[in-house]
Amino acid sequence: MTSSRGAVLRGADQPYVLETVEINAPRPDEVLVRVVATGLCHTELLARKGMFGPKFLPAILGHEGAGVVEQVGSAVTAVVPGDHVVLSFDSCGQCRACARGLPTSCASFELLNLTGTRADGTGSARDADGNPLTSRWFGQSSFSEFALATARNVAKVDKGAPLELLGPLGCGVQTGAGAVLNQLRLAAGESVVIFGVGAVGLSAVLAARLSGAGEIVAVDLSPARRELALDLGATRAVDGADPDLARLLVTQGRFDASLDTTGVGTVMATAVNVLDRPGSCVLLGAGRDTLTVHPTVLSGRSVTYGFEGGSIPSIFIPRLVDLWQRGLFPFDRLIRTYPLAEINQAEADAAAGVAIKPVLLMHDHPSGSWALPRT
Ligand SMILES: [Zn+2]
Ligand SMILES: [Zn+2]
Repeated sequence: MTSSRGAVLRGADQPYVLETVEINAPRPDEVLVRVVATGLCHTELLARKGMFGPKFLPAILGHEGAGVVEQVGSAVTAVVPGDHVVLSFDSCGQCRACARGLPTSCASFELLNLTGTRADGTGSARDADGNPLTSRWFGQSSFSEFALATARNVAKVDKGAPLELLGPLGCGVQTGAGAVLNQLRLAAGESVVIFGVGAVGLSAVLAARLSGAGEIVAVDLSPARRELALDLGATRAVDGADPDLARLLVTQGRFDASLDTTGVGTVMATAVNVLDRPGSCVLLGAGRDTLTVHPTVLSGRSVTYGFEGGSIPSIFIPRLVDLWQRGLFPFDRLIRTYPLAEINQAEADAAAGVAIKPVLLMHDHPSGSWALPRT
């Protein structure tokens, strides 16, 4: 057992409270990580709203951890103590999708990532009174100084990169960038429209620019986010509230590709309708809405859903780190850091759109935007 300070969410309407929690020793396939920093993702807000069942709370959330391997189980060979790792989503490694190199389509994806337990129903942390906590959120529950992950959901990264920044590569940034680089596979000069430019959509903007895309259109309700999208490489920004949005978007021709991060039914339909033929749409939002289009709309067009940007974390995350180190993928521009003790402020700022991507530092640092020297 390892004692750890963790942020525990006990009720849908309650703030996170810092508590001492006890983390289990790693099983043979598990990895104990000393967490340095963890991003706060939109999915955390959904967990608070009860989207994952009535027995989900109390929970340690957090699924964009980055840290140092502290201890490994007897069967782990991919990492050793002292390695720097980013924690990402978990997968089983046994099913047909995993065997085909498609862990984001793992048959156990929901079981391993969204229930907050291991596949056998157990958790890996208890509170100070010995009561079990939901503690396998995305195979990690990393709003904690220590987190128990598996060999499959840690991605080893270069020790030269600051762990304070890397956590969001495990989910939000990976999702947006992966949708462009792994799924759409934009060719130089192709056009793309991105609906919703929060952390995921802006990561897609960065990846589209990196791909040599021609027209990169960002659609959002927020003037500040539209401004940031233009700064990060979008060629045009459009107000999502414009009543004539679809017509406005296609004035310069239909698009080779589109991305939706909003999950709003009408917006998803627009993302399909503005495509050229051929054209490809990747959906990344997941609310309660469904996509409704007439079947003939899909002639010559493809639509897919992009859990985690279709990535293989152990390959894709080190690649994003390398691109950042080369100055080609400045995702640090999305990040604002907070000490763990300010997690409730970080959550409020994320919900209000004040912070694009909050990152919680497990050890005390002043809050503020992270500034790094550019190479
Ligand atoms: Zn699987
Ligand atoms: Zn996430």
